[in-house]
Amino acid sequence: MSDKAHIGVTGLAVMGRNLARNLARNGHRVAVHNRHRERTDELLELFGSEGEFVPSYSLRELVDSLERPRRVVVMVKAGGPTDAVLEELVPLLDEQDIVVDAGNANFEDTRRREAELAERGVRFVGAGVSGGEEGALHGPSIMPGGASSAYRDLEPTLRSIAADVEGTPCVTHVGPDGAGHFVKMVHNGIEYADMQLIAETYDLLRGVLGHTPAQSAETFRSFDRGRLNSYLIGITAEVLDHTDERTGRPFVDVVLDQAEQKGTGRWTVQNALELASPVSGIAEAVFARSLSGNTELRAAGSGLPGPRGARTPEREQFVADVEQALYASKIVAYAQGFDQIRAGSHAYGWEIDLASVAAIWRGGCIIRAKFLDRIRAAYEQNPGLASLLADEDFRQALSGAQESWRRVVATAAEFGLPTPGISSALAYYDTLRAERLPAALVQGQRDYFGAHTYRRTDVDGVFHTEWAGDRSEHEA
Ligand code: NDP
Repeated sequence: MSDKAHIGVTGLAVMGRNLARNLARNGHRVAVHNRHRERTDELLELFGSEGEFVPSYSLRELVDSLERPRRVVVMVKAGGPTDAVLEELVPLLDEQDIVVDAGNANFEDTRRREAELAERGVRFVGAGVSGGEEGALHGPSIMPGGASSAYRDLEPTLRSIAADVEGTPCVTHVGPDGAGHFVKMVHNGIEYADMQLIAETYDLLRGVLGHTPAQSAETFRSFDRGRLNSYLIGITAEVLDHTDERTGRPFVDVVLDQAEQKGTGRWTVQNALELASPVSGIAEAVFARSLSGNTELRAAGSGLPGPRGARTPEREQFVADVEQALYASKIVAYAQGFDQIRAGSHAYGWEIDLASVAAIWRGGCIIRAKFLDRIRAAYEQNPGLASLLADEDFRQALSGAQESWRRVVATAAEFGLPTPGISSALAYYDTLRAERLPAALVQGQRDYFGAHTYRRTDVDGVFHTEWAGDRSEHEA
């Protein structure tokens, strides 16, 4: 057997280091490299006994230590740093070698890189990796794109390190070139929406019922025992239950209420605008974070009048209503995210299998949830499903939830509590159900001021009305 390493990892910050450890723990001989050698030495010193590591102190050494075709995982800061690494690495490689970019790259960059490397015969795989540092170590959800020949070569290795749900590893070949990073981007967008919905639910329990954070933690634990069971609900209960050591106050009360973001949520919304794929839940979550951090606007709004009083609903009923509203809004957020993947798949020619995407999100990643099994089943039964909202199971869930959902939105408005996620999800639901939309009036307005024309419900063709003249209609 060759004494060469099976795979290499360059970039040994928290993610790369844990991914390298995961590979080594699963029996792969891993060559490891970092721009500054301290991280390589630290990895060997702290975790060298976990498996077979081959330290490399230059990319040339890394490349020379690998069996062929070489497999190199790049796990560095996304953007310029990834290009810098590729610029140095690729000239050292041979045809058929594989470079896996496992960072959070923008899928447009991945498309560009894949095309550039393909010209040199090097196979480039943009792989979304979710699960944070724990996931990277114990089993992430992996979303690889790129050529299928590269995936076939990597598959056994990736399956050995991915999260496992009931014997199925959470990895699949998502599609060509940037498909993997695209799906990872939408995953992160959905994560934003899900977190926002949960945060609004907490705010309602507190603002309407006067729940303490610890009481809300209990409520979220009870939600976690039911159909809302998920990683995010679980950690929400943990965070709400946590007491600040310094002050003895609930942790959530001493944290500055300005949510930050690294950009994948924003990318998701930017791309959704390009694709004309409405992801209002994700957009509201991104805007909610931006607004939370906009101290100038918040200062300008502070002191604006709120409601003069509202009737507090019965406690048990309201908790049940909130659970229904959260579940229904979550269905909408995921439906919108999967729509965007479908739209992206169509626009870029990827043929992404939505059931497989739902399947690999069931474990390892931040949005892992029981619920994803139902989404997988919905797309397995009907791969052409136009919207998750039309699936029979989800339809029934929404039908069962809608009265509670409406009461929650009304109560939030009465109490003056902002619920952009939950309210916009209900608006989306009502938009989809509507037989007629006021878009007809918008068309009339557009035709009035800009002669933008309109189509009619009863006759084919494109029409314009002479608004400034005799108001006669003619075909445009
Ligand atoms: P960082 O994103 O903080 O990146 C640090 C690593 O990038 C270090 O190894 C650093 O090397 C290297 N680096 C930075 N600039 C350059 C450069 N110009 N040339 C060569 N190497 C460079 O590390 P993380 O481990 O947090 O993340 C790695 C990737 O994984 C990122 O793309 C991130 O978006 C993605 N990711 C992160 C997750 C997380 O939970 N943190 C989850 C999923 C994906 P040096 O030590 O020499 O400075």
